[in-house]
Amino acid sequence: MPDIIQLLPDHVANQIAAGEVVQRPASVVKELLENSIDAGSSIIKLIVKDGGKTLIQVVDDGKGMSVTDARLSFERHATSKIKSAQDLFNLHTKGFRGEALASIAAIAHVDMQTRREEDEVGTQLKIEGSNVVAQEVTVTPKGTSISVKNLFFNIPARRNFLKSDQVELRHITDEFHRVALAHPEIGFSFYNNGSEHFNLKSESFRQRIVHIFGSKINERLVPLEEETEVLKINGFVIKPEFAKKSRGEQFFFVNGRFIKSSYLHHAVVAAFEGLMRAEMRPAYFIKLEVDPATIDINIHPTKTEVKFDDEHTLYALLKSTVKHSLGQFNVTPALDFER
Ligand code: ADP
Ligand code: MG
Repeated sequence: MPDIIQLLPDHVANQIAAGEVVQRPASVVKELLENSIDAGSSIIKLIVKDGGKTLIQVVDDGKGMSVTDARLSFERHATSKIKSAQDLFNLHTKGFRGEALASIAAIAHVDMQTRREEDEVGTQLKIEGSNVVAQEVTVTPKGTSISVKNLFFNIPARRNFLKSDQVELRHITDEFHRVALAHPEIGFSFYNNGSEHFNLKSESFRQRIVHIFGSKINERLVPLEEETEVLKINGFVIKPEFAKKSRGEQFFFVNGRFIKSSYLHHAVVAAFEGLMRAEMRPAYFIKLEVDPATIDINIHPTKTEVKFDDEHTLYALLKSTVKHSLGQFNVTPALDFER
């Protein structure tokens, strides 16, 4: 009997990995925006058409890439962000898996233009379903522009599974909010089908929240601030009387990365105990800074989950910080919970 195991060709492996990394257009938006942030950009522009199904383009003014790096960036496990497994415990970048661009290029038509400051000319690369179809020298501003067209063109089942343009746009907008809130120091603009949705200049966290969610929210915010040896907490919770029944705006950022955590959510809700009815949900915008060595974000390819070494301490500190801030801002139990 002959041996029957063989290594999958790269383009097949990339397409399989893409299934995990890219669920929908919003996943591409997240990966591209994060790459632009990691590249040290100060202004990032997001352009989408038809809920991202026709076009997703991210243009940044970051450090750009050399010709060789531009080619390598589309290889799987190719990254400039970590060199060894040890680096996983000291992460200061959003990326580290080196699979986003390879995955995206496996299932879409990608056009990249990039130039480093020190290079006179840049590089243009076109890749379709993992195949490089063009590579040219090009005149382009410093930074990187990546266009992703016809997402899932070669996976009809995935393409058909996409929701309406409107629903996909909502997912993209959610992603944009998360990234823009995590980095108020960076200017972000966002265009959909030619119309401007956001044009955010570099600003404070509070200003960023107001520019995204509207000026009414400003007077409803209660600031949080706490610093201990293991944790720094910054941000805002909403005054209890403005809590809603629906989920609303609830954001945790750990070391600059949006994460989901029902455990930490519970800590915040517990701090509101007695201040609002049990079924109400407070909005919050909370940034936690911890030693990167004490967390693991390599749990899922989308990196929206985090494992903390000592989550009980975190829970207690978060709860007491929120409680203390609500108290300081004279938020006392409302006699009439209906208002
Ligand atoms: P990761 O972000 O995990 O390293 P990616 O596949 O997202 O993996 O990107 C691969 C590499 O391509 C990055 O490590 C980086 O060196 C380079 N790169 C990607 N996007 C940009 C960009 N906008 N500007 C500069 N370099 C980039
Ligand atoms: Mg990346």
